[in-house]
Amino acid sequence: MSEKKFYEKESKELAEFSAAAGISTALTQGAGGNVSIKTADGNMLIKASGFRMREVSPDNGISLVSLAPLNKVLGNLSFTEHQLSSAISESVRPLNGSLLKPSVETGFHSMLGAAVLHQHSIYANFISSCSSSASLIAELFPKAYFVPFAMPGYELCLEIKKALNGTSAAAGLLFLQNHGLVSYADSAEEAVNIANNANEKIIRHFRLPAFHLLESRKDIRQAIDAIKEAKTLTLDQLLYCSSMPRSESINGDLLEIISALSWLHAAMRDCGLSPAYIS
Ligand SMILES: [Zn+2]
Repeated sequence: MSEKKFYEKESKELAEFSAAAGISTALTQGAGGNVSIKTADGNMLIKASGFRMREVSPDNGISLVSLAPLNKVLGNLSFTEHQLSSAISESVRPLNGSLLKPSVETGFHSMLGAAVLHQHSIYANFISSCSSSASLIAELFPKAYFVPFAMPGYELCLEIKKALNGTSAAAGLLFLQNHGLVSYADSAEEAVNIANNANEKIIRHFRLPAFHLLESRKDIRQAIDAIKEAKTLTLDQLLYCSSMPRSESINGDLLEIISALSWLHAAMRDCGLSPAYIS
């Protein structure tokens, strides 16, 4: 007889959610982005730290956390970094024999709706990394929040809490400056729809070109040289491009990030937008 599995249905749902949210490198590069769903009994399944969205399966890449310790800290008007990290450590539970570290973004996932999606979409970064981000987002997405740049984890969790300012809508959309987007809703399907609609609206509005990974050595070398000279445009650039390898030794994740940066600079230039760098 096979062993009973806990949260079998929810694990399958999270794996499908993760695959849909990370379906292409235009939507998230490397191990960026994450998804979560809350269970009826006060827990949350969230993508484990370090996994690619497309790697999550019902049996791997999922972390189980209890929401009670997180709600206790995040329910306060302010909280310290230590309080948040202690609450996350305290919240982690084993899931069918494995105990994986939850995403660094567990804090903000726990504050939002029943299903939460976070992508490093190049389209979201196009609109949230330029000097006119605030007005463009207000014009195209009047109900969305624009969250100032913050480092992942404690700082971002705090900025999202400030941006929401006590509102507790079941569904919504946030643009994270120089970082990506977050959508949340009552179901994973709806959260994916909100993100897909936002990405498509940005593509249509600006007639953005298709995204593809850089292929030729010449293009890769030129992109690396340009990034070495440019200021920092995205969180991924800040985290992963501080010491760039030679183009010959470039790996999959870095190639995705470099291709995204190269696309962003070209798309902004073609649309007459000025990049707003991370200061
Ligand atoms: Zn992120």
